[in-house]
Amino acid sequence: MSNEVTTAGSERRFQGVGVSPGIARGAVFVYRTDEEQPVVRKVEEREIPSEIARFEAALIATRGQILEMQERIAQSIGAKDASIFDAHLLVVEDRTLIDEVLRTLQRDRLNVESVFSQVAGRYAKTLSEIDDPYLRERALDIHDVTRRVVHNLMGKRGRDLASMTTPHILIAHNLTPSDTAQLNRSLVLGFATDAGSKTSHTAIMARSLNIPALVGLHDASEQLNTGDHVLLDGYNGLVIVNPTDQTLWEYGELEIKKTEVEEQLNKLRETQSTTVDGRHVILSANIEMPEDIEQVKLSGAEGVGLYRTEFFYLNRAELPTEEDQFEAYRKVAQEVQPHSVIIRTLDLGGDKFMSALNLPEELNPFLGWRAIRFCLEREDIFKTQLRAILRASAVGNVRMMYPMISGLEELRRANRLLEECRNELRAEGLPFNPDMEVGAMIEIPSAAIIADVLAKEVDFFSIGTNDLIQYSIAVDRLNERISHLYEPTHPAIIRLIRMIVDAGHAHSLWVGVCGEMAGDILLAPLLLGLGVDELSTGAALVPRVKRAVQSLDIAACLKLIEDVKHDDNAASILAKCEAVARSHYGDLL
Ligand code: PEP
Ligand code: MG
Repeated sequence: MSNEVTTAGSERRFQGVGVSPGIARGAVFVYRTDEEQPVVRKVEEREIPSEIARFEAALIATRGQILEMQERIAQSIGAKDASIFDAHLLVVEDRTLIDEVLRTLQRDRLNVESVFSQVAGRYAKTLSEIDDPYLRERALDIHDVTRRVVHNLMGKRGRDLASMTTPHILIAHNLTPSDTAQLNRSLVLGFATDAGSKTSHTAIMARSLNIPALVGLHDASEQLNTGDHVLLDGYNGLVIVNPTDQTLWEYGELEIKKTEVEEQLNKLRETQSTTVDGRHVILSANIEMPEDIEQVKLSGAEGVGLYRTEFFYLNRAELPTEEDQFEAYRKVAQEVQPHSVIIRTLDLGGDKFMSALNLPEELNPFLGWRAIRFCLEREDIFKTQLRAILRASAVGNVRMMYPMISGLEELRRANRLLEECRNELRAEGLPFNPDMEVGAMIEIPSAAIIADVLAKEVDFFSIGTNDLIQYSIAVDRLNERISHLYEPTHPAIIRLIRMIVDAGHAHSLWVGVCGEMAGDILLAPLLLGLGVDELSTGAALVPRVKRAVQSLDIAACLKLIEDVKHDDNAASILAKCEAVARSHYGDLL
């Protein structure tokens, strides 16, 4: 199924779901994980001869491989079948193709694998579009040979998104959180994927990195080619190929308006997130990497409400040491002073994997050996992190929380290991804050239901709505096919949040929300009405949420809660939330 929605002249539009706001314009780089897809890298003039030599060597190697294969097939199946490879040999000997690659190499000064892949891709596309079965076959031959040549050029180096050196818009079938963590934010102008959803960690990272992004394009990565010129609209989830002058003008106007709104919002940096009738809601930011802290400071957030530490473990060959982690946590804690940072202990698994750990593949990784379950079995890894967090608590205002708590025993075991670490540090004479607040993320329905029991063992709750919704409604947060079922305003979700907040408050705990719901300004009236004390969201969204909180009054939020109490329809509840939002800060919507 294609998501191409309109075609006007040479302009083509693909509709997806916007997950990170902003507009980007530029040349596309299609990243294909199922093939040897080369990265685009600038080369110096002096490197051209060696690029040509590499290209020649790859053509010779490819020719040799085809001949070898032809011979093997001739012997095992017969000469007739082996003759299909004659066409492949013609491709590696095609002078027009080779000359064009050499010309483009001189002109664009890009690495030869990316040039070859681009030129050959264009040839194949032209042939495949001609209504002639023979030529369409030739297009397939070119695809096949291209893969082989590129593979030979790349050797064992494989793909490395981090090594791209030219600005581009990245289009991929899917990007894992590890892929996204490698992106160089100054070179990736924006990205769009066929798969994915709003609460995938890839989308969450795009918002942290401030990269305009969209997901759910179905097969656009098949239809777009490296080098295509596109406009990416992360607000409305659109990729526009070859935008017309009219489209470019309209987007220019939109950008001016958005910039005006952003400038207004930036003025709120030093102000408090307090409602019209005086209720202060702590508004903090989520981060994935220590570098994100700069954005947090610019956003006017009151500290970090969720530091997803697992990103520290991705894309590295070895586990981070206690010292590595201590340094990172200390830096963040110092940077956010006088506010606090809530460090979440390792939440590997689900959609985040560390290759060095060789975790076994699971059928249902989100329900599997992840997060606290993993940590309680790998005490060595867990205690290394707990010690680093405790040590950072001596330097700054550090709090800590456990992800994926499902029951009391799990929480108690984690706390026992924490106590062991405290004792070890005491014995070693290393400083830490003995009163560091320890909380539990409430993101599993079983934990929500026994929140009153868990409340006795912790200092605060932080509601992870991303997982709470997926587990409560049994809807995979990554699966775009069922994303319509992923409904934050499902009456069951509202009841669960109410239970958690009430249980926390009954035990004098503060209760925050750090899932993506916290950054959705349509839902701010609902969360405030339910009594949430803290909202933590991506730094880019903080100013908008602050404006929303400052425009609301608790009386209106409580009235909304009354209005939705007996409503059993998620869409109608959402409409009621939107009505309140619209009447208080319609200009933001
Ligand atoms: C959540 O589940 O809401 C959450 C904040 O954690 P993560 O998105 O990292 O699973
Ligand atoms: Mg979670």
